[in-house]
Amino acid sequence: MNKTSFDTLIIGGGLSGLTCGVALAKTGRRVAIVSAAPSALQLNGGAMELLGYVDGQEVAHPLEAIASLPQEHPYQKVGADRCGALADEAKQLLADTGIYTTGTATQNHWRITPLGVTKPAWLSLRGMATSDAPNRLPWKRVTLLNLQGFIDFPIQFVAHNLSQLGCEVIIRDIMVERICQPRRTAAEMRAANLARTIGAGSKLQELADAINKASTANEVVLLPAITGMEDDYPVMQLRRRVAASLHFLATMPPSVPGTRMATMLRHYFKMLGGTYLAGDTACRAEMADGRVTGVYTAKSLSTPLVATHYVLASGSLMSQGLIATADGIIEPLFGLDVDAPAEREKWSHYGLMGDQPFMHSGVITDSTLHAMKDNKAIENLQCIGSVLSGHNPLTMGDGTGVDLLTAFAVAHDII
Ligand SMILES: Cc1cc2nc3c(=O)[nH]c(=O)nc-3n(C[C@H](O)[C@H](O)[C@H](O)COP(=O)(O)OP(=O)(O)OC[C@H]3O[C@@H](n4cnc5c(N)ncnc54)[C@H](O)[C@@H]3O)c2cc1C
Repeated sequence: MNKTSFDTLIIGGGLSGLTCGVALAKTGRRVAIVSAAPSALQLNGGAMELLGYVDGQEVAHPLEAIASLPQEHPYQKVGADRCGALADEAKQLLADTGIYTTGTATQNHWRITPLGVTKPAWLSLRGMATSDAPNRLPWKRVTLLNLQGFIDFPIQFVAHNLSQLGCEVIIRDIMVERICQPRRTAAEMRAANLARTIGAGSKLQELADAINKASTANEVVLLPAITGMEDDYPVMQLRRRVAASLHFLATMPPSVPGTRMATMLRHYFKMLGGTYLAGDTACRAEMADGRVTGVYTAKSLSTPLVATHYVLASGSLMSQGLIATADGIIEPLFGLDVDAPAEREKWSHYGLMGDQPFMHSGVITDSTLHAMKDNKAIENLQCIGSVLSGHNPLTMGDGTGVDLLTAFAVAHDII
């Protein structure tokens, strides 16, 4: 094999591409991931969802509810009866990567969003604030701490919404001169910049000291997630050094917990021997006899990347895995069959937060997630994650679950 030839080439390095890559690289496969830009993982607030809603109703037991989903849903394609095992495998692989989570696939818990409302969740990163019920918090009284000038945390909204869950909320500001340095440029008091500034050294201790000064040992303190860009060591250290019971709340994106997951998965993939081609775009594919024979990238326009198996993990409209043109929604790399409303007027409707038809768009696959082109399955191209049709992360709360379970199902197929 030469350096442009692989067992598997994955297009897209978001949650689905990275986890599929890790699962394959763990078995010694020669895997490459080509990824154009940061992924939707950077928006993730530190929780993963398997199935949060069916027909607008909150789901308490996702594995049970999966059985009722329509046949075109990706969970039905991987096999409803396999979802429990795949979910356990995903949780274990995240832990192997160093991403430790709480939660089970049999019973949802509730994560707290950056606006302070609850949403059903399957896994939450350790340290994140969660609840075991949608309409209450596990605490009667919390202290909401904020850094002066921090702009990724709408604290009054959060406080109001938490108080609606029957909790007394006290707001306190803290100021740590060395940590709040970015404040000199107000636009930079953002979670990611703070996490980089704080690191795991002496500034972390200064933050702990400031929290201890602003709270007592018997308080529950909620702090925006502003530590731990590379791993969760600073998160655990801070919790140890603070006398109060400390939990973290997701902030507006870019999110520190989401960026941390992306970073850790990428490092682990590379440590396992995977090739990660960051900042490169797969721009043309060659095909012959119903198979993909090579993929050209923006940085390798004359020599194709060649593999036995290809996996499309290029995400949805936001990541340009799908593109909206004047004529329709297309998959730009392979020209795959796409399930999308034909008439442009039917892509969306009024009611911004409603079930928007364009959100269901995605590539059409056969029952084993092989991509369809002109109604024929491509033998060596499978699709995973949010590029798939038949699901909707916003209205079903199934985005990250679809990413992980389809990634593992396809990795198993390839292995
Ligand atoms: C606004 C929003 C809110 C969401 N909320 C939730 C939620 O509440 N719960 C939930 O479970 N899920 C939610 N999701 C969904 C969840 O974030 C996604 O399911 C998940 O992150 C998608 O992962 P992915 O790996 O399939 O794709 P992505 O994360 O989109 O990654 C695809 C990657 O492929 C790259 N790429 C695309 N084309 C190419 C190419 N030609 N060559 C190389 N690279 C390419 C992109 O640059 C990107 O890095 C939300 C998504 C969005 C956008």
